[in-house]
Amino acid sequence: MTVRAIIAAFALSASTSATVDRPDASSIPHITVIANGQRDWTARYRFDRPVRRLVFVRAPDDSRTRTWTAMTGFQIIVPKAGGEILRRIDGKPFRSVDVSMPPRYIYLAAGYAPFSPFGDGSVLMHSGRLFACGNVCPAADSTAWPIHLIVGDGRGIQLGDRSAARNLRWIDKDSGHNIYVGREKPAATGPVNAIIDHAFPGDLRRQLLVQLPEFMQYFSEQLGPLAARPTLFASYDAAHRDGGGRQGGTLPGQIFVHYYGARWATEFTKPDFASDQSWLFAHEAGHLFQRQLGTEAPAGWWIHEGGGDAFAALALRRMGPEMSAYVDRRIDRAQLACAQTTSDKSIHAAITEREIDPAYQCGLLINLALDAAIRRRAPEKDGLFSVWLAYLAREKRGATTDEAGFLACVATIGGQELADQLTQLLDTPSPRIALLR
Ligand SMILES: [Zn+2]
Repeated sequence: MTVRAIIAAFALSASTSATVDRPDASSIPHITVIANGQRDWTARYRFDRPVRRLVFVRAPDDSRTRTWTAMTGFQIIVPKAGGEILRRIDGKPFRSVDVSMPPRYIYLAAGYAPFSPFGDGSVLMHSGRLFACGNVCPAADSTAWPIHLIVGDGRGIQLGDRSAARNLRWIDKDSGHNIYVGREKPAATGPVNAIIDHAFPGDLRRQLLVQLPEFMQYFSEQLGPLAARPTLFASYDAAHRDGGGRQGGTLPGQIFVHYYGARWATEFTKPDFASDQSWLFAHEAGHLFQRQLGTEAPAGWWIHEGGGDAFAALALRRMGPEMSAYVDRRIDRAQLACAQTTSDKSIHAAITEREIDPAYQCGLLINLALDAAIRRRAPEKDGLFSVWLAYLAREKRGATTDEAGFLACVATIGGQELADQLTQLLDTPSPRIALLR
């Protein structure tokens, strides 16, 4: 060994131990996922230098401690400060660790599920659930993870417009993506690619394939076309054992809805079911055209969630008298629910306390009232859509997109007086939403 090599080796070991001893030094792992059909999948995290713990980026609860299994000598725990971490039981540093997990749906109140199984055994995997850092996660949100997915049985992989038979590598970031592992190929239907589970009743599949492109067309006329052709995933897992429900969502370029549990077999036959689905898909399509914009603070969630429901109401109204009657029923229901939750408190207080439901129910009413008020005041504008165009432009030029930012757009499009009325409405107990003029 030359002197230079010895110095280099010493420098390397010194910097390595310094890194390990600094629990604030962040390190981003290479993630390899081995898909294993219906059996447990494995995620391997490899670091360039030793770390003391692996910190999961998304940890809304402690479900990894119950559903994921770390390799021998490791454990997943919830530290005092919250979140979920993976570490060696003896506390020593490590450079690589394997975790196994069943490819099953679990409900996360604040986050997308890691896996959404299809009726034929295909699976949608949410990469964001795998994101983790060594020691701590960097404060900057520009972090990117190299991911390598290996599908042993060659079922096939789809991610955006990329497909592969056995393995795919990509760099992932932000909220992550849904990756489809299965034999289906996305069907091009109008402006969208779709993988719709064959386990759904035929009528429902056909309805989705017809209506979704119509919604996309309508929203792209109002809010401009999307940069890339989005993909829709609709999965239905009747074999899910732990309860039942439905979760929908959007990620950049992706819309997805997952149904799980045996109860859907009867739900599918109920009179309003088809219309409920149209509403849900229009709402999710609306989020795509909102470009996933929304406020961080829950108090402002009436903007994107209530706005998504208002977009759905506007889109469904155009589909004829039957759908219009359904929209009226939804508005009646929202009025009842919003009046109940705000009988002694403001919409802001209700959303902050109960978070989700009032953002939809009161949010739908606010956004429809806003749309009508703008159309009265400024008939040359396109109601709520004009506010959203201004809001999106605001984001593009780097201005704030919190609630005040949205209200500034309301003022620009509908006048300061309208924005002031809306501000007051949000903070008044038992608000009379119809009073927006
Ligand atoms: Zn939504």
